Amino acid sequence: MSDDEKAARLHHLRSEALAKGDPLALPVTLASMFNLPGDPEAGVAGYGRMDNPTWDALEAALGLVEDAPVLAFPSGMAAIAAVLFAVVKAGDRVLIPSDGYYTTRLLADRYLAKLGVEIETRPTATFDTGGFEGFALVFLETPSNPGLDVIDLSAVCGAVRAAGGVSVVDNTTMTPFGQRPLELGADVVVASDTKAPGGHSDVLMGHVASRDEGLMEEVAAWRKLSGAIAGPFEAWLLHRSLETLELRFARMCDSAEVIAPRLAAHPAVKALRYPGLADDPAHGLAGRQMTRFGFLIGLTLADRDTAERFINGCGMLAPTTSFGGTHSTAERRARWGDDVAPGFVRLSIGVEPVEPLWRALDAALSGAA
Ligand SMILES: *Cc1c(COP(=O)(O)O)cnc(C)c1O
Repeated sequence: MSDDEKAARLHHLRSEALAKGDPLALPVTLASMFNLPGDPEAGVAGYGRMDNPTWDALEAALGLVEDAPVLAFPSGMAAIAAVLFAVVKAGDRVLIPSDGYYTTRLLADRYLAKLGVEIETRPTATFDTGGFEGFALVFLETPSNPGLDVIDLSAVCGAVRAAGGVSVVDNTTMTPFGQRPLELGADVVVASDTKAPGGHSDVLMGHVASRDEGLMEEVAAWRKLSGAIAGPFEAWLLHRSLETLELRFARMCDSAEVIAPRLAAHPAVKALRYPGLADDPAHGLAGRQMTRFGFLIGLTLADRDTAERFINGCGMLAPTTSFGGTHSTAERRARWGDDVAPGFVRLSIGVEPVEPLWRALDAALSGAA
């Protein structure tokens, strides 16, 4: 099914199974207990840590978009932790990007390492250097957050599989409408739905998608036993947001494609990373493996103070640490210790009509320089 067909069917997934008189919109089911006389039965809800009809609807919608079985989690990190803890065991070696989402590395270093798992890191830009022999799990993030370097997914996932390892791709920055790691050979996709899928900066959620049945059984068991479950209302909010993901994502990427070259040509901008620019180091690979170039732009201004003046002086930029919302946001990533220039700003383009947004960015850049 094409992305367009999936996006179209998403709007009718629920009505396919409705009886006369059922509400068209998904009800939120707040329940810890379910009516359970006699013996428990597979497929019959029993207890809220294992079963919830609102999760089921969300997982069906995400599963349609991912074209794979999905398990929902209360945050992106809960999804990532579930995969790591479900797959690895003492003595295993795990490879993680050195410049990807910081908390993933922290989780591995702080908890997996003490269980006897060996953690190695490599920069995204040269990720395939050194091969993948001997790694039980290889974690990939592309484009990387915040540097926007790109990994060749089919080459790396193929090499990881040939070496007997499991490849896990964090697809947060692209969403399934911008990149399809499972089709490119990845074993597992993890994502923070807190970003573009939620999209309205009011909910944290995450998910795991994989066509590997045994692995998904382990991830489901982890969720049930660790208790890392999503609240029904959060699941409901994400389910609702998914209806407009394709629409929002398309607008955000369209606008980023208009804005990135204008920013690159602006005298206040010292350097700019956007995979959609013809002269970006990631452009060729991004064009081959991504269906869109995304809505994140990395720009470097003269220094810390210039970057702060730009972010705080722009009426159409919310100064936030997260991205993917309807409103454009920006952050100076060095404030968290990322290995980037002090004036590096990660810009997340929102759904504002592009010309007013550009005028606000242009004015703020000129005012900050
Ligand atoms: C935000 C983010 C996460 C973590 O997601 P939470 O929902 O905040 O737990 C993981 N990976 C990437 C790439 C992210 O941007």
